[in-house]
Amino acid sequence: MAITFRRECKTVEVQAADGTTMRYELEYRWDPLTARLSVLCPHLREKWTEIYRVRDESWLAELIAASTTNCPFCRPLIDQVAAKFAPDQLDEETIRVDDVRVFPNLFPRTDFEAVITSPEVHHLPLNECQPALLSRFLQAALDCIKKAHNKNAQLRYPVIGGNYLPPAGASLIHYHMQLSMQQYPFEAVRELIEASEQYAKQESGNFWVDLMAVNQDREIVRSGDVYWYAPFAPSGFCEVRAIVTKPSFRTFTAEDVKSLANGLAAVLQYYGDHGFAAFNFILYSGRMVSGNAGFLSGLQILARPNPRPNYLNIDSWYMPLLLRQAIVLERPEELARALRDYFRSD
Ligand SMILES: [Zn+2]
Repeated sequence: MAITFRRECKTVEVQAADGTTMRYELEYRWDPLTARLSVLCPHLREKWTEIYRVRDESWLAELIAASTTNCPFCRPLIDQVAAKFAPDQLDEETIRVDDVRVFPNLFPRTDFEAVITSPEVHHLPLNECQPALLSRFLQAALDCIKKAHNKNAQLRYPVIGGNYLPPAGASLIHYHMQLSMQQYPFEAVRELIEASEQYAKQESGNFWVDLMAVNQDREIVRSGDVYWYAPFAPSGFCEVRAIVTKPSFRTFTAEDVKSLANGLAAVLQYYGDHGFAAFNFILYSGRMVSGNAGFLSGLQILARPNPRPNYLNIDSWYMPLLLRQAIVLERPEELARALRDYFRSD
């Protein structure tokens, strides 16, 4: 086992206009697998609080109310506009799990893409998110992925993801997830796969298994085959990750789906209680048939800046976007501690 949590603290001084010296503590942290650099800047909480975790409730309510007019995922429009799977893609035109439907994305960006939604749920208040609803969404998405892969073995790499509200890239307010499948690994997954393979070769072990053994400070909970934690070097605000101890979606069980849905609901409850409204998440898999050496499937979720009339995307300026160096405000160890209570309440 050779996992190291490398960090370095620095004090930066700034002389204010009145001559006083302000001192700020920065902490540089390197991801233990990829060496990607993050900087913890707790002092930015004050400057970014307005943008970061204060919801403009009345403006948001107006935005949501306006979005119900002609919503393509609400009834009756969904029955008229939802695309259908062709026979060479799937045997059924639409996949249904109770109220949840899976149908093709009209504008695919990868080899196979679908939308998962329920006409019953237009807006999803984060602190009212029910695990059962998320469970139906995830189960429906996994059913679709397994069936699509059975039809076309080239669809080796699947991912399920979600963009919630415009700051997270959602063009529709109506709650939905998406799934994408392609022949080649998605870029971020490729990076994890290659680093995991390299670790497996050098250390004769599995990085993810080794990580779970030394990650107590940031561990949230282990629920069956799903391990929830706050990453040592986060890539965004209030980031939470999960390791699913399965090489690919092909071997996910109903119990795994339940654990993932419970955990996602707990994180969303935390986001809702702490003033966030928007988030992104991905649930990723290794190669469908045999997985990848030293790699395990996983989930990543982070909060995005809140929607507001003069939106400021403070998490995608040049440093995080072009230099790929995340700036975060919370200490992962404190986030993990706070989240443990949310997971216990389920
Ligand atoms: Zn709708």
